[in-house]
Amino acid sequence: MRRIENYINGQYVPPLSNEYIPSRNPATGETYAEVADSDRRDVVLAVKAAKRAFPEWSATSPAERADYLQKIAEIIRARLDDFAMAESIDNGKTLKRARQIEIPRAAMNFEFFASGIRHFASEMHDMPGSAINYTLRRPIGVAGCISPWNLPLYLFTWKIAPALAAGNCVVAKPSEVTPMTASLLGEVSREAGIPSGVLNIVHGYGNKVGAAITGHRDIPVISFTGGTQTGKEIAAKAAPEFKKVSLELGGKNPTIIFADCDYEKTLEGALQAAFNNQGQICLCGSRIFIEVPLYERFKKDFVERAAALRVGDPLEEDTEQGAIVSEAHFNKVMSHIQLSREEGGTILCGGKTVQPEGRCSKGWFIEPTVVEGLSYDCRTNQEEIFGPVVTLTPFENDEEALKYVNSTQYGLCASIWTENIRRAHHLAERIDAGIIWVNCWLLRDLRTPFGGMKSSGVGREGGWEALRFYTEQKNVCIKL
Ligand code: NDP
Repeated sequence: MRRIENYINGQYVPPLSNEYIPSRNPATGETYAEVADSDRRDVVLAVKAAKRAFPEWSATSPAERADYLQKIAEIIRARLDDFAMAESIDNGKTLKRARQIEIPRAAMNFEFFASGIRHFASEMHDMPGSAINYTLRRPIGVAGCISPWNLPLYLFTWKIAPALAAGNCVVAKPSEVTPMTASLLGEVSREAGIPSGVLNIVHGYGNKVGAAITGHRDIPVISFTGGTQTGKEIAAKAAPEFKKVSLELGGKNPTIIFADCDYEKTLEGALQAAFNNQGQICLCGSRIFIEVPLYERFKKDFVERAAALRVGDPLEEDTEQGAIVSEAHFNKVMSHIQLSREEGGTILCGGKTVQPEGRCSKGWFIEPTVVEGLSYDCRTNQEEIFGPVVTLTPFENDEEALKYVNSTQYGLCASIWTENIRRAHHLAERIDAGIIWVNCWLLRDLRTPFGGMKSSGVGREGGWEALRFYTEQKNVCIKL
């Protein structure tokens, strides 16, 4: 059986515990690999290696670092099929999605920050006749990067690429549920010639490896994507040490549909937002609010399309919905479906598990599920489910829509569907969320600030925001 080892100081090494965690393929339920069950001691080794590498790496020019990152992007592209297959087996997502969207985006993350660091500049503040101030931006040291299982390589590299570009060394931990592509990234980094110790990858559980990273005194900067509860724990731990923290957390995002929308585009957009990656994207629109005059028509068509989505073997080309990432998460999503019934919801379609024939008969699959008849403030409409489950709720006017939309603790994103741009703009201003899409969903420009407000996080990723996050600034004032 394949063993997924840590990547420390340029070498694949076993965890000091010599213990491993089984890695299961969610589409078949089978164990296909085992991953290092590391602990604090492995993190200590990784941090030592990163600290040793830091002086040399941070002294390289932006252009040199850009070349390394560009090389990584090229190698990932050349190994697209390996990466896509590994991601699909590990996570249950469709191979098509991994190949067409996620792995190319991981390569693009490196390419984007390779280009970004070449253009990155700092400020100068002139005091005419008196003094000049200039800002130095320096890499901070060893960055801790912790990422979740839903978009494994895509989110892992979204953190690592800007950290390396800005001249930091990295100790990174992928989710232990989906370690495979992160492990392959070690090979890629070696092939690209990244010096030993610059990038270190430690596998294992969050409460051991993750906690050791956030608690390590020599890691002054932490970038985390994951659940809100974990984010709280990390924030509490980082605060007394005054660590710099970026937290990208959960969401319960609204899709707001007005009667004057472009109907076909809206239907397709809402469907994508609801069920993409089995609803396991932090940006998925799981609360769909529809203006009353359109409600019945939309409901009928949306349910018809949701019920028609093909659920099954992620490796088959025509599959639209793959497996749920793990047995534990599958159980969590099913318990939320049960809760929606107990809260008085009517299941319009889905609500059941799926058992495909053949090799996937023991996998964890759930039908795309649409529920109506729930109040906006019930648990189903307030708690993040993170699966293929959405609710439909009618609204009378903008004020009512806004009240529903802003009612949760979360504030990650929203999508608004209307041909009335003035109305969209007015609402966009008043919705408490870090990202608002109008007549689109998940349309990404990597230069834009990415992140949420309220319990959806602190700080923004992307573009200059990320490079600024991974640098420490110092103002130098020279009297003329
Ligand atoms: P978790 O918060 O459970 O885990 C995220 C990562 O943190 C994993 O690598 C996990 O390790 C690790 N971890 C767990 N406990 C600790 C700890 N005490 N200290 C440090 N690290 C720890 O989230 P999930 O993996 O379940 O991911 C789903 C969540 O991520 C959802 O809430 C989703 O909304 C959110 N998310 C947010 C995004 C955003 O950009 N805002 C994007 C994507 C997802 P392990 O699991 O291996 O034990």
